[in-house]
Amino acid sequence: MKIERVETFQIQWAPTDKPTTRSAYVRIHAGDGLVGLGEASPMQGGRASLAMIEHDIAPALIGADPLDHAVLQDRLMHRLVKLGPEGALSGALAAIDIALWDLKGKMLGQPIYKLLGGAWRTALPFYASIGRNGAGQRSVDEVCRVVEQRLRDKPAAIKIRFDNDRTEPDRDIPGDIAKARAVRRLVGDDFPLAFDANNGLSFGGAMRVGRALEELGYWWFEEPLQHYHVRDLGMLARQLDITVSAGEQSYTTAAVADLIDAGLRMVQPDIVKMGGITGLMRCAALCQAHGVELVPHQTQPTIGHLANLHVCAVQAQATKPCELDDPSTRRHAIFRNPPKPVDGLFHLPTEAGLGIALIEDEVSRLRV
Ligand code: CA
Repeated sequence: MKIERVETFQIQWAPTDKPTTRSAYVRIHAGDGLVGLGEASPMQGGRASLAMIEHDIAPALIGADPLDHAVLQDRLMHRLVKLGPEGALSGALAAIDIALWDLKGKMLGQPIYKLLGGAWRTALPFYASIGRNGAGQRSVDEVCRVVEQRLRDKPAAIKIRFDNDRTEPDRDIPGDIAKARAVRRLVGDDFPLAFDANNGLSFGGAMRVGRALEELGYWWFEEPLQHYHVRDLGMLARQLDITVSAGEQSYTTAAVADLIDAGLRMVQPDIVKMGGITGLMRCAALCQAHGVELVPHQTQPTIGHLANLHVCAVQAQATKPCELDDPSTRRHAIFRNPPKPVDGLFHLPTEAGLGIALIEDEVSRLRV
């Protein structure tokens, strides 16, 4: 079977032309009417990744065998490396890889997790990832109200994110700690909590916040520093007792290896940013070999989320639940059978491939 056509499109979820309200999708058409679905990182609507797919990647895929997906990815990553593998190119190749895995599942009549070697669990707990809690975004009380709302979905853990301006480090450390403390009081001593600084702290600021989080019994401290300060992230991880994590802005297996080498013991690569299913499975092997926790970042509600669930399901040692982002308008309108949590668990679909189908009328209505 051969790849016949590669189709890219954005879905515009809200009636505005802001790029932040768009998702970036790819459909790969092969013989026998089989179609694979993929998703790229949606930064700025994923436009840069989709353009690379259209102009630079698709021509190289036509006529290829979908089962050669790993060869195709590595060949194109190296051929196009000067387009910038740290972002748009790796997002484009991630979308292609997910779509080719979806096709492979449909060709072989198996869900992806079976093709990856089988699931350790097909019902996966999740954590509620709650954004916009930084200075000027929410008060202490407002943070607690949002946490209460999200607890209704029965998450296994809660992560509060402080989406502060990266050009203003340490803007409100006392306020950040007050919010962390209020959430701990709200959920009780034993409930798993995480704090995501979204790159908003200096080294000294991160030490202060980290010590406070240790006292409050938080489970992990995510992206305290700028993502490019890999050595400092490692130093922080070695000095603090709380688990320090990073990796959602790592775009190659080698970049994840650098984090591990620096001293991080929990990494968070993202399936729609780096390598797709093939890339994340390579990270899983790297993490297992080094005794490092793999807790993938994932905030795309449907294709990215499902692809991530397939990979998480096949890990023997999954130490933390899967990420579930804030409810958003980008959720589910174009999908026939979107993943939804039931009693705190996502159940993996048993259909071939990813296990999801598009509603064509809705796609036509919302596509750009
Ligand atoms: Ca994060």
